[in-house]
Amino acid sequence: MVVFKKIEDLKQYISGQKGKGRNIGFVPTMGALHAGHISLVQKAKNEDMLTVCSIFVNPTQFNDKSDLAKYPISVDADMELLLKAGCDMLFLPSVEEIYPGGEDNIKVYDFGYLDTILEGAKRPGHFKGVGQVVGRLLEIVEPTALYMGQKDYQQCMVVRKLIDIMALNGLKMEICPTTREADGLAMSSRNRRLTEPQRLVAGCIYQCLVSIESKQNSDNFELVRKECEDLLAAKGFATEYVALADARDLTLLDNYKSDTPMVALIAAKIGEIRLIDNILLEDSRNS
Ligand code: AMP
Repeated sequence: MVVFKKIEDLKQYISGQKGKGRNIGFVPTMGALHAGHISLVQKAKNEDMLTVCSIFVNPTQFNDKSDLAKYPISVDADMELLLKAGCDMLFLPSVEEIYPGGEDNIKVYDFGYLDTILEGAKRPGHFKGVGQVVGRLLEIVEPTALYMGQKDYQQCMVVRKLIDIMALNGLKMEICPTTREADGLAMSSRNRRLTEPQRLVAGCIYQCLVSIESKQNSDNFELVRKECEDLLAAKGFATEYVALADARDLTLLDNYKSDTPMVALIAAKIGEIRLIDNILLEDSRNS
């Protein structure tokens, strides 16, 4: 694995590889890597991509600066995991390298409706930062394919829109399934900060998502939402949202809707740790 800190060195290497006919697969991350991140690298490798992983804790996407200060950093362990996964390149830039003109002079993209709901509403400025960093990284890496996790469903939709706005018509974006712990908890770098008792109850977010899916014939999402909120509260969570939406454009739904692909999404905080998760609802009418 070749490690780069400077944009110019990375670009030169990538351009040489493209000259040899290689396709480039890109996995942007903020580090503190786990099996979920590695599944994206593996997916890129399986598709015969020369794979670049970036580790960059992007300051502009943290609306809560104390969250940024506490974001786990473990570059040595990350490098070991990437080596084992057969990652070809690691890009480890500094903030100055990514934002040479300072954080206030970065291109801003408008995501419209997507930035007004759920994560956009709860974390003002978050998707502005995501757009800035992903836009910048795509300009640098110029990948053939971009690999992102369904775990951050709304982020995937924002990035899809970004690709549209940037008119990167040839870029393939792959949304990869969420990797989970045995109790269903979606793997996340933030899970490292859970205390043991918090970790023991954290699987209930996934239980709620599964129950939202299994009750889709009840035609009473309001009741199911209330049951989820009660369960989360009983386990010590402060719920930010339990939502149902059209999986294609995230239009929020008051109730289950037949003939509409749906996604259920939850954000909840336990102690200081904010967790998010989602599932795509399988169409139960066909099962
Ligand atoms: P992050 O380091 O949290 O910014 O995540 C980097 C990429 O890994 C994003 O595309 C995430 O959606 C993806 N990712 C994070 N957690 C998981 C997971 N449990 N399963 C699959 N992909 C994930």
